[in-house]
Amino acid sequence: MSQPVTPMMKQYFEIKNQYKDCILFYRLGDFYEMFYDDAKTASEVLQLTLTGRSCGQEERAPMCGVPFHSAQNYIAKLVNNGYKVAICEQTEDPASSKGIVKREVIRIITPGTATLDTVLDENENNFLASICIDGENFGITFVDASTGEMSTTQGKNDFAENSIANIISCYSPSEIIVNDGGVEYANVVLELKKRFDFFDSFLPEEKYDLQGAKDVIMSKFGIAKAGELMNKTNDYGIRSIGAALLYLTETQKTDLSHISDIKVFENTNFMGIDAASKRNLEITQTMRDKSKKGSLLWVLDKTKTSMGARKLKSWLEQPLISSSQINLRLDSVEELVNKMPEREGICESLKGVNDIERILGKVVYGSANARDLVSLGQSLAVLPDIYKILAGFDSDLLKNIYNEFDCMRDLRMLIESAFVENPPVTVKEGGMIKDGFDAELDRLKNVVNHSTKIIADLEADEREQTDIKNLKVGYNRVFGYYIEVSKSNIGKVPDHYVRKQTLANCERFITQELKNLENTILGARERVNDLEYDNFIYVRDKVRDALTPLQQCARFVSIIDVLCSFAHVASQNNYVKPIVDDSDILDIKDGRHPIVEMSQTDALFVPNDTYLDTDENRFSIITGPNMAGKSTYMRQTAVIAIMAQVGSFVPASYCHMGVVDKVFTRVGASDDLAAGQSTFMVEMTEVANILKNATPKSLVILDEIGRGTSTFDGLSIAWSVVEHISDKEKVGAKTLFATHYHELIRLENRIEGVKNYSIAVKKRGDDVVFLRKIVKGGTDDSFGIEVAKLAGVPDEVIDRAKWVLNAIESGELINDFTERNMAKPLTEEKEDTAVLDEVIDTIKNYDVSTLTPIEALNEIYKLQKKVSELYEQN
Ligand code: ADP
Repeated sequence: MSQPVTPMMKQYFEIKNQYKDCILFYRLGDFYEMFYDDAKTASEVLQLTLTGRSCGQEERAPMCGVPFHSAQNYIAKLVNNGYKVAICEQTEDPASSKGIVKREVIRIITPGTATLDTVLDENENNFLASICIDGENFGITFVDASTGEMSTTQGKNDFAENSIANIISCYSPSEIIVNDGGVEYANVVLELKKRFDFFDSFLPEEKYDLQGAKDVIMSKFGIAKAGELMNKTNDYGIRSIGAALLYLTETQKTDLSHISDIKVFENTNFMGIDAASKRNLEITQTMRDKSKKGSLLWVLDKTKTSMGARKLKSWLEQPLISSSQINLRLDSVEELVNKMPEREGICESLKGVNDIERILGKVVYGSANARDLVSLGQSLAVLPDIYKILAGFDSDLLKNIYNEFDCMRDLRMLIESAFVENPPVTVKEGGMIKDGFDAELDRLKNVVNHSTKIIADLEADEREQTDIKNLKVGYNRVFGYYIEVSKSNIGKVPDHYVRKQTLANCERFITQELKNLENTILGARERVNDLEYDNFIYVRDKVRDALTPLQQCARFVSIIDVLCSFAHVASQNNYVKPIVDDSDILDIKDGRHPIVEMSQTDALFVPNDTYLDTDENRFSIITGPNMAGKSTYMRQTAVIAIMAQVGSFVPASYCHMGVVDKVFTRVGASDDLAAGQSTFMVEMTEVANILKNATPKSLVILDEIGRGTSTFDGLSIAWSVVEHISDKEKVGAKTLFATHYHELIRLENRIEGVKNYSIAVKKRGDDVVFLRKIVKGGTDDSFGIEVAKLAGVPDEVIDRAKWVLNAIESGELINDFTERNMAKPLTEEKEDTAVLDEVIDTIKNYDVSTLTPIEALNEIYKLQKKVSELYEQN
C-alpha cells in the first residue's frame, strides 16, 4: 500500500501538475531542486548527479539540484536544448510562515521568450513567432520579449509553405507556437523546422480565440491603438497577436509594458527574397557552416552597439522597395561618407552606448539591477555628444532624427545622482545609492558608519548643556543606551532626563533624544538596506515611466549606428552611391562581389559590368568553363541590388537601378540535401517557385539548371525555362542564366531580349587562364579537361580524357560506345562500314521538307567531313 506523500511533495505535485510541459525548478532554501522525470532529464542535459529524496513513499524520489546563485547558466543550457523551465519560488518568508512555505511559479523561460543574458546573443534578436493558420489563411506575429519589438503580418495560405517560410526566414525565431487547428498544416511547420532551427508547440485553439485576442489587444494597447491595429489586420493576424501576448503573459507573468507598439508589415513592403535565395547569396550566414564570417552581414557590420548590429541584420533581412525610403537612407550614408571626422566622432560616442533595449526589457520584467540602470545612465550620457554632431547634418533622415532626438537629460541626471559608479549585483543589500541623493538615507548611513562618534558627540553636548563634567553615555543590553550621572551631580540633572536605574554611586537616565538615537542606530542597518531598495525602485520606476522616449532613443541610436557602419564600409572598400529609382534598368559598371573581394587576399577581384532592362536586354545567357566566375558574377549582381535597397553603397564604379521587387536564385546544391530531398527535386521546386512568382521587376539568377537529370531532359527543361521567363507575356523578369548547354546560345537569335555573354578565358598551351571578364557573345568551349587539370586530377587521367574527348568530337564514339572501343584507341579498330552506316542513317532521317538551305549546307558539310576523315585514315 502506498503511503501518503510528505506535505512538501504534495505541494510539489500540485504545482508540477500545472506545468507538465516544463522542467520545474522548485526552490528549496539555497537550491532549485528537480524531481522525477525532470530530474532525470536535467541530470542528463546538465550533467548533474542524480540523487534521491525521501518523499514519504517507499521509493525515494529521483532528484537533482542547482545552487540558486548559479542557476542562470543551468537554465540557459536547458532552454538552449529546447526545454521550457518553470521557476518556482518561495513566496513567503520561511521564518514567519507556519507549516509549509508558500511557493509559486513566478516565470517560465522558453527559448522564444527568454530574457536572461545567459540565453541571449547580444547581436541577435530572440523572436517568438505565433502562427495562426488554416486551409486558407495565416497570420504570423513575431515578438522579442527582451527588447519589446513586435510585428505582425498575414497572408493567403495558397502557397503557404513558401510564403510562410520566407517570412520566417526574415526573423529566424527560436520558438514557434501554432494553433492546434493548424496541425493539419503541421507538415508546413515540420518543413520549416528542417530549415530553421526552432522549438515548436501547438497550443489549444482557445488560446487563439478571436474575441479573446481582441480583449487582450484592447487591454494592452487601449481602444485607439487597438482599433487602428484591427483596421490593418485580419482575424488571423489578430488571433496570432492575441496568442503571442497571452503566451508571453503566461510565461513572463508581468504586464509587458515595454511592448508598446506592433508594427504591421505587408510582406510586399519589402523586397521578396525567398529563404533559398537568402541562403544562396549568403546574406546573413554562409552556406557551408552557417557562420556570420563570410556573409554579407560580416562585410557590412561595423556597428558599435548591439542594437545597431540587430538593426543591421533586420534591414538585411528585409530590403526596402520604396525608392524614396531607400534614398532617405542612401542620402544619409552619403553625408556620413563625406563628413568623416563627424562620423568618427559619432562612432566614438556610440562605443559608449550599452544595450538600452534589453535593459528596458529587464526594467519591465523587474529583473534590472542598479548596474543595469547605471549602464543605462552611462549610455544616455554620451547622447548629447551625438546630438551635437548631428546638428551639422542636412540629409533628411538624420535631420529628422536630430529634430526628434531627446537626450533624456533629466533621467540621466537622476540615475547619475542616485547610484554609485559600481553598484553591487544584488538590490537588497545596499551599497547602491550615492551620498546626497536621499537626506534620510544619508542620515541613516551616517548613523551606521559613525554610531560611536554620534554617541560621543551627544555625550559632549549633554556635558556642555548640563555642565556635568563626568556625564557619560553608556550601553547595556537590558536598558540600551543611557546617560550616567554621578550622585554628586544629581542636582544638575535637567527635568527631561528620565530616571531608569539607580546604582551605588550614580544614577542612569534616558532622554527622548537618546531613545530616538538608539532606535536609529539599532534599526539603521536594516533600514539603510530597505531605503536603498526603495530608492532603487523609485529610479527604476522613473525609467519605466520613460519607456517610450527611451525606446525611441534606442531606435535612433541603432539607425545612426547602421548608417555609420554603411558609410564606414563604403569608404573603406570604395563603394559608390547607387542611383535608385523606379526605372526598369539595372546598370552596374565595374561591379564586384563584396564578399569574394573581401575574402580573396591572393588575387585582385576583376570588376564586371551588368546591364539588364525589361526590353532588349532582359535575359543574359552566360556561358564559360567551370571556375571561370559565372556564379560569382551573377551573385554579385543580386547582392548589389540587395545592398542598394537596404540603403548601402555598392561595390561598383557606377550603379543605376530601378527598384527590384523580388530576387530569386537557383544556385548550386543547397543544404536541403541534408533534409533528404534529391538535388533535382530541390532544383525543380525552386524553379517552379520562380516561374510562379517572378514579375518583370524581379531579378532572377539561374545557375546551371537542369543539371541534375539526363542531358537531354536537362537541356529541354533549361530551354523551355528560358523561353518562359524571357516571354514578356508570361514572366519577363530580368534574368542572368549560366549554363553548360551551349545549345542555348542559339536562343539569342530566336528570342528578342535574350543576349549571350561569356566569361573570357585564354588557352595557353595545355593550360587555361581565367580572365574573369564578362564579354559579349557565347562560347561553346568548356575547357573541362583543362579545369580538371588545374584542380589537380592526375596527368594519366587527363591524357585519357583528352583522348576520349577527341574520339567523341570526331563522332567515333557516338554510335559505338562499347567497351571494346573504349579499351584501345578507336581509330585503329574502327570499321569503315560503321561510319558509312551512320552517314546513311543520317541521310535517311532528314526531314527535307523542313530543312532550311543553311541547315542543309551545314549538314552536307558535316557529312563530307566524316567521310573524308574516314578516307584520310585509310
Ligand atoms: P563558375 O561559377 O564559373 O564555376 P565561380 O563563380 O564559382 O565560377 O568562380 C570560381 C572562383 O573564381 C571564385 O571562387 C573566385 O575565387 C574566383 N573569381 C570569380 N570571379 C572572380 C572575379 N571577377 N575576380 C577574381 N576572382 C574571381
